[in-house]
Amino acid sequence: MGKSAVFLDRDGTIIEERHYLSRPEEVRLLPGAGEALQRLARAGYLLFLVTNQSGVGRGYFTLADVERVHERLIALLAPHGVCFAEVYVAPEAPDQPSQGRKPSPHFLFQARDRHGVDLARSYMVGDKRADLECGWNAGVQASILVLTGYGADTLRTLPEPAPGPLWVVQDLPAAADAILRGTRACPGRGKGVGPAAGADRGGAAADASS
Ligand SMILES: [Mg+2]
Repeated sequence: MGKSAVFLDRDGTIIEERHYLSRPEEVRLLPGAGEALQRLARAGYLLFLVTNQSGVGRGYFTLADVERVHERLIALLAPHGVCFAEVYVAPEAPDQPSQGRKPSPHFLFQARDRHGVDLARSYMVGDKRADLECGWNAGVQASILVLTGYGADTLRTLPEPAPGPLWVVQDLPAAADAILRGTRACPGRGKGVGPAAGADRGGAAADASS
């Protein structure tokens, strides 16, 4: 059986959203983000960062700037004993050809192939529609929308019903709670669609029927 993973958007999900962040000193963890990732890691989830950084393709900053930002992020997470199995960056602008730019599932497939991740038992967490679609395109158990960053705006503009299994939670700590409980957590706005618990790919039910 493959490993379970949580794929994480960066800006507005783990750290404060800043317009085209490129300076390491501006990296700020969102409240509770370090502890949330620690709980997921301790529960055995591999953690992957999956970030679109079109500021590189647009010429606003360089890939080296992105790497410095990630060094800072990794340093901020280290006291929590958290590290990423991989950091995936799509540096292209939206009008440039890109294999990895979300909503492409490319990096999730790469994690599946290189790390033995079982995508059907994994999650994608983010604050934008491209994050959710990335997870759906890869066939994750659920895409999880956090309401930090652009999340509240994203929720308002999502089609109903959502095109794939969607959980909506307040923030990353709540996403970790929901993943660790293995249950849906929706705000009662009809967005928490997806297979019902009994029909889900849950271990016992799937084993019994296969
Ligand atoms: Mg984001």
